[in-house]
Amino acid sequence: MDVKAIVKNDSRYCYYLKRYNRPTAPMKPFVVRSIALAVSVLALSAQAQDKVLNLYSARHYQTDEALYTGFTKATGIRINRVDGDDAGILNRLKAEGSSSPADVVLLVDAARLALADNQGMFLPIKSKVLDDAIPAHLRAAATPEGVTWTGFSTRARVIVYDPLRVKAADVATYEQLADPKLKGMVCTRAGSHPYNLSLFTTMVERLGDAQGEAWLKGVVNNMARDPKGGDTDQVMAVAAGECGVALSNSYYVARLLKSSKPEDRTAMERVRVVFPNQGTSGTHVNIAGAGVARYTKHPQEAIAFMEYLASPAAQNYFANGNNEFPVAKGVHTDNQALKAMGGLNFKGDQIHLTVVAKNLTKVQQMLDRVGYK
Ligand code: FE
Repeated sequence: MDVKAIVKNDSRYCYYLKRYNRPTAPMKPFVVRSIALAVSVLALSAQAQDKVLNLYSARHYQTDEALYTGFTKATGIRINRVDGDDAGILNRLKAEGSSSPADVVLLVDAARLALADNQGMFLPIKSKVLDDAIPAHLRAAATPEGVTWTGFSTRARVIVYDPLRVKAADVATYEQLADPKLKGMVCTRAGSHPYNLSLFTTMVERLGDAQGEAWLKGVVNNMARDPKGGDTDQVMAVAAGECGVALSNSYYVARLLKSSKPEDRTAMERVRVVFPNQGTSGTHVNIAGAGVARYTKHPQEAIAFMEYLASPAAQNYFANGNNEFPVAKGVHTDNQALKAMGGLNFKGDQIHLTVVAKNLTKVQQMLDRVGYK
């Protein structure tokens, strides 16, 4: 039985997701019971299968199918995929508790992985393959029980600027985003978005609390407008002249560079990209990563899948699916859009991504104090 097919076709599940994600409308008890029953059926079905892996994934790209087929071919283990967004997957795992059929959970962004980890959703694992392949700063901290989450691709948080208004030398570092020279020019998405939170936690770690908060205040003082939209919207606003400088994940820029839409092409001719802090700590990199689910019924298969994701072939599929960078040692991308934006040889920040979890609450409070919307 295909769990993915059932879940996708189960209207109760859709109803549950809609209801459960609304904090003002908690689920009614009968809905909870129905879900618990449905989940138990799914769990039993999954257990009855030999060599199966239930993957809860917040990543959905065309290359993912080939990635998973490759795993099945190599190992004989079939993958049942349950797709959702990060918040939906976390809510679902919480609701399912110990009866969850999830074996591996794939999330995007260190902040979200840390959040799931804090809630005990991952099983620590020991794997020499992963220890050898993946740089330690892109994984959860190692404990005697093992490691909970592992990054499998990185994305850089780059600065996009308007060369008609801003000199490259004035946006060479994240620190300069707070420089009064950029007054009225800076645009970002919401400060509390995980992509920004992850960057800000590393900035506060390096600058210290007082200077870190002053930096955030400086960025707010320089804004061209209140934060709104996603990273692509910031890039387009720079191209349109509304903003002089913006922050964006590298894959959004790469996606626009690859776009065949005339408006995207015009926009990308208008802007420039900087990988910040090349002379100092390196450009902030974030991860898409995975962990073995706390209540997995197939731990061997789950670890096998994690190790497969670190293999060179899987690394290329995984990274290229979203114009990201592979992370396994010795694996390099030849993605032409990343190359065009100068992303094949940049220096990435080596700070351990556990600082994201460590500083998350503190930074959220700082954002409130400095009025970063
Ligand atoms: Fe994104």
